[in-house]
Amino acid sequence: MASSSTPDFNRPLYTPLAEIDPEVQNIIDKETWRQFSGLELIASENLTSRATMEANGSILTNKYSEGLPNARYYGGNEWIDELEVLCQKRALEAFHLAPAKWGVNVQPYSGSTANFAALTALLQPQDRLMGLGLPDGGHLTHGYYTAKKKMTASSIYFQSFPYGLDPATQLIDYEGLKKQARIFKPRLIICGASAYPRDWDYAALRAIADEHGAFLMADIAHTSGLVAAGELADPFEYCDVVTTTTHKTLRGPRAGLIFFRKDSDKAADLGKRVNDAVFPACQGGPHNNTIAGIATTLLQATQPTWKAYAQQVIANAKTLGDELVARGYKLQTSGTDNHLVLWDLRPLGLTGSKLEKLCDLVGITINKNAVSGDASAQVPGGIRLGTSALTSRDMMEADTKVVADFLHRAVQISLVLQKEAGSKLLKDFVRVAIKPEEGKVGYQQVKDLGKEVRAFARRWPLPGVDVSTLKRPAGIHEDE
Ligand SMILES: *Cc1c(COP(=O)(O)O)cnc(C)c1O
Repeated sequence: MASSSTPDFNRPLYTPLAEIDPEVQNIIDKETWRQFSGLELIASENLTSRATMEANGSILTNKYSEGLPNARYYGGNEWIDELEVLCQKRALEAFHLAPAKWGVNVQPYSGSTANFAALTALLQPQDRLMGLGLPDGGHLTHGYYTAKKKMTASSIYFQSFPYGLDPATQLIDYEGLKKQARIFKPRLIICGASAYPRDWDYAALRAIADEHGAFLMADIAHTSGLVAAGELADPFEYCDVVTTTTHKTLRGPRAGLIFFRKDSDKAADLGKRVNDAVFPACQGGPHNNTIAGIATTLLQATQPTWKAYAQQVIANAKTLGDELVARGYKLQTSGTDNHLVLWDLRPLGLTGSKLEKLCDLVGITINKNAVSGDASAQVPGGIRLGTSALTSRDMMEADTKVVADFLHRAVQISLVLQKEAGSKLLKDFVRVAIKPEEGKVGYQQVKDLGKEVRAFARRWPLPGVDVSTLKRPAGIHEDE
């Protein structure tokens, strides 16, 4: 509270958001309503905990603490040091790592910045790296470039070359990678993906890296929650460096982590190189509010309930995949080992963009995604689906079957709309979906499915929000 002598210029410091800025508050309310009323199937997303949100919104945001615990450029870091040390300790615990063998930097702002700091630590400018190609499920930060453009810092500042999938199995082509590596001679091989439904053979990758004395880095941004639970193969056994985001399956705040091997035979000073790369090479002051959020997330990930969550995420993904296959749909690799499925829409004559658009209209959030063998990167032929967020809203296998049925109906409606549109253009597809005078059968089906999806979604709780008192905010228009 302000005191009676607080000058006017400081009064805004004490005014609640809803009072001082109803416009931003209303946007937050609308987004809350969207998350409550919809089904979140974006594989990179999750619903973080109330505790994480409290930490993220805490007063720790005020503090500058460049440097590392007990070696800061600013004073006043007694408690920040305690926090960062605790976060580091929990990070090692969550991934079952011995502090004698592994260290961790918990300061990266996000997954992309964690990766760039890791590359800065491991490579000299213009050194060679190999990562899984973007169209095959890799991430931008693993060296992505096009014929016309170096798209990311990982291809601007380093020479990169992609490896890919075996077209027959749609699994990582380890043999192909081995052959390409003999020609390209990378200093670093990056494994890990944003859209790959299967687990990795880290031993095979290590053998390939060793042939060239190369570093092996795993980016487990998507799967780290499942790795921590011991539900997927352990990259720490074979890698020199492991990076991750903290907000995907790990269910924490938006941030990144970099784990480094203390006993790497490639670089005895790996820890120093990673820490120096994060600060001062790539970042400034750590986001201490976020580090508190990571710490409390990692506490959750060390509890026995974490394994149960991870198992349920995977069981739900398998159920989702099985249900789609049972309806005659095609999945990349025909199934999944993790939290995501890649749905190949090409046999239906439907693009990922159209199904994504239709699903948006009915409250199902998904994303278009390239599938193996796509002719054009501009027209992705598939959809990526993930079950992390649904599972965080308490949904089990039976509920996932309901969701699979919604998706099935969304496809059927899309096919009707595509016919009614009379063209293959996305804008015509959207027009018939939202204008009653244009779309006839399809339009009504969109409305009906939207109502059902919203009614179903609102049966579930939403972490960080008291849904029993939640009201539809101004600016949201629904027919029911
Ligand atoms: C999401 C993702 C990242 C980037 O994370 P941001 O937090 O969005 O910067 C990096 N690598 C992989 C494999 C990812 O899936």
